[in-house]
Parts: sequence; C-alpha cells; structure tokens
Amino acid sequence: MQNYNPEEALWATRREFGEHGGVAPSISRSATFTVMDPRTMPEIFEGIRGPDKGGCFLYSRHFNPTLDVLSRYLAAMEGTEAAVCTASGMSAIASTLLQLCRCGEHIVSSDTVYGGTHALLGDLFPEMDLHTTFVDPTDLAAFEAAITPKTKVIFTEVLANPTLKVANIPALAELARKAGVTLVVDNTFTPMMISPAQLGAHIVIYSLTKFINGASDLIAGAICAPKDFIYELMDLHHGRVMLLGPTLDPRVAFDIIERLPHLAIRMREHSLRAMAIAKRLHELGTPVTYPGLPSHPQHKLMKSLTNEGYGYGGMLTIDCKTKGKAEDLLTVLQNEERFGLIAVSLGYFDTLMSCSGSSTSSEIPPETQHQMGISPGLVRLSIGYTGTLTSRLEQIERAVRTARLV
Ligand code: PLP
Repeated sequence: MQNYNPEEALWATRREFGEHGGVAPSISRSATFTVMDPRTMPEIFEGIRGPDKGGCFLYSRHFNPTLDVLSRYLAAMEGTEAAVCTASGMSAIASTLLQLCRCGEHIVSSDTVYGGTHALLGDLFPEMDLHTTFVDPTDLAAFEAAITPKTKVIFTEVLANPTLKVANIPALAELARKAGVTLVVDNTFTPMMISPAQLGAHIVIYSLTKFINGASDLIAGAICAPKDFIYELMDLHHGRVMLLGPTLDPRVAFDIIERLPHLAIRMREHSLRAMAIAKRLHELGTPVTYPGLPSHPQHKLMKSLTNEGYGYGGMLTIDCKTKGKAEDLLTVLQNEERFGLIAVSLGYFDTLMSCSGSSTSSEIPPETQHQMGISPGLVRLSIGYTGTLTSRLEQIERAVRTARLV
C-alpha cells in the first residue's frame, strides 16, 4: 500500500477563481490573444515569454488559460511537473509516442491494451516504420528480452483493458531506467487509486473520457510529464501536440475542472460497489476477475501499488466462455434486471457492460485475443453507483442464475 495522497496533492495546488471573484474558474474561449506592445509577440514565438513566463498567451492550439488550469490540477494530482490536455485519450497516446520515437525505432508494449491502442501500435505505426513488440504485462523477463538498441519506450496500462492484469510499475520503471528508455503508463482505469509517476513512471496518460470526467458526455485526454517534455510537445517546430493539433476545447476542459473535486468520492464508491459485487459473484462460483479479490493472480502486487483509501477500482470481468452466453447475460442484465447499460466505455455513474472480444478489443485478431487471455465470452463491467447496492446485488445474482452461469 502506498501512502501518497493524490487528494492532498491536488488541493495543495493554487486554486483558480473566476473573473469577478467567481468560485468557479472562468472559461477562456478566445482562439487568439492580444498584446499591448508589438515587441511582446516575437518574444512569445521565441519562448522568452509564455503562460508561466509573464502570463503571455499566443493562440489556443499552443496554450490556453482554461486548459492550463485543468493541466495544472492534473499534474498536481499525479505529482508530475506539468501536464497538457488533449481532445481524446488516443491523441494523448499517439502524440506522446510520436514525440518519443522516430522512423525505424521501436516500442515494447504490454500486449493487453485497449483495442484502439493495440491498432495504433500494431497496425498504424508500422506504416511509419515504427515497430512494437507486444509482451505479457505480467512477464518482466519478456519486457527485458524484447528491448533492442532501437527501443525508445516501454508502454503499458496499469490495469489492463480488459483482462485486468496488473503491471509491476516499479519494476518496469527500474528496467526502463537501466535500458535508458522512457516508461509511458496509461492510468485510465485507476486514477487516484494508483499514482504511476510516484512509482517511477516517466509519463502518465489518461483518457479523461472515463472515470476522471465520470459523466460519459465528452471525449478528452491528458499527458502528465516532466515540464521539458510538455514544452517539447508544444514546440512550434516539432511539437506533436502543437503541430498535429489535438487541442482540447476550453469548454470541455471547464466541465472536467468542475468534476475533479468529486473524483475521489466517486472512485471510492465505484470501488466499494465493485468489491461487493465481485465478492458476491465469487461466492456464487461465477468466473469473476477483480483485482481486489485475493483470487486475482496479482492481488498482492495490486495492493502494493494502490494509494490507501481508494479500494481496487470499478472494473470487473465475468468470463462467460462463449459470445452467445455473454450476449445472454448482457440481455438479462440490461433488459430484465435494469442492472446497467450495454455500451462500450467506462467510468460512468451507471454500470456499463460490453463483450470485449467483439467490441473494444475487436481490432485485435481472435488468435491474439486468445494469447492475451481474452475469451470470446469475456464481459467487462464498469460498475456504477446508481441505485442501492442491495438491489444491485440481488439483480446480478438473479441474472447470473438466469443466464445459467452458476
Ligand atoms: N486508454 C484506455 C485504457 C481506454 O480504455 C481508452 C478507451 O476506451 C483509451 C485509452 C482511449 O481513450 P479515448 O476514447 O478518450 O480516446
């Protein structure tokens, strides 16, 4: 168990108030910014002045005051020097990896990653002569063996989508340090609960679309990293965020700023509900995987990585073995029991459920899915906190019986 406190860290940072003393920050929607003296303009272009050097802004694809507030809060929460927010989790991943790697170079990645990330690394990047070796996230020796002189990055999700395998971040950080490569970690499933930068990761990525926003009403991403790297991403000549332009809309950034104050409360409730449901399913003999259960193969590792007081997260899986059985379970859960919604994504206040192999991991060929441990009947549930826990437990118990899983 770690004693890092992300809530303390977040609220220790300077609080942003709005114009006219508003308790909520103002939204700075301007695309461009004016200067009083024309000589200031070239100084901004030369990097002599900037948001943190005289409070100068240039153009909102570069830096924007509202985005800077959200970025500053996220960096404080993670304990990184800085952060930048992007229009999606995918653009955060793509911009980071393209900034770190050139043609002909190499990435070692966990094989169990979100299907879109798998397609980016395995299908799209090779078109640019950037190649990835995929390894089991629990096999440290495999990561080490895959590193070549061309390797620039080790990439992993902390809690893998959808198998919920746990990556040993401190050990991977040590491996990355020895090999002189950058450890990039996607912490989308476990904000607040796990703080990868405190465990040695160099760069922490989020899809803000999920738990951090929590309302499934927008798409956004973030890169939390050392200040030099954030400035590299925003560089006017080579910055992948500046030049590819996946800039987050300030109105979207504002919405997320307003939801950060209750992220910790939400994470605790997701965890509490998921733990109770996982325990009940386990007692019934349902094939459930949840990192908080002692039956999870990396439960001890997970425990050692988590910050105290946030539990083990909102994600669990039920392996129904076949796609048909998974569809039966999903139908009963949504249409008979009203337990949750059949939908991709996660981190919503209602429970979201999908059959991973034929949805969010469908970019991955079936034989690779098999190697990764994704069965065709794997149902992923992001446990929400609407309704009473008592009624949710009754609903899921009836559903697994109706679907003949116990
Ligand atoms: N990382 C993980 C672990 C995800 O589950 C997802 C999407 O499901 C992404 C990244 C991509 O995020 P976005 O949809 O915000 O681009």
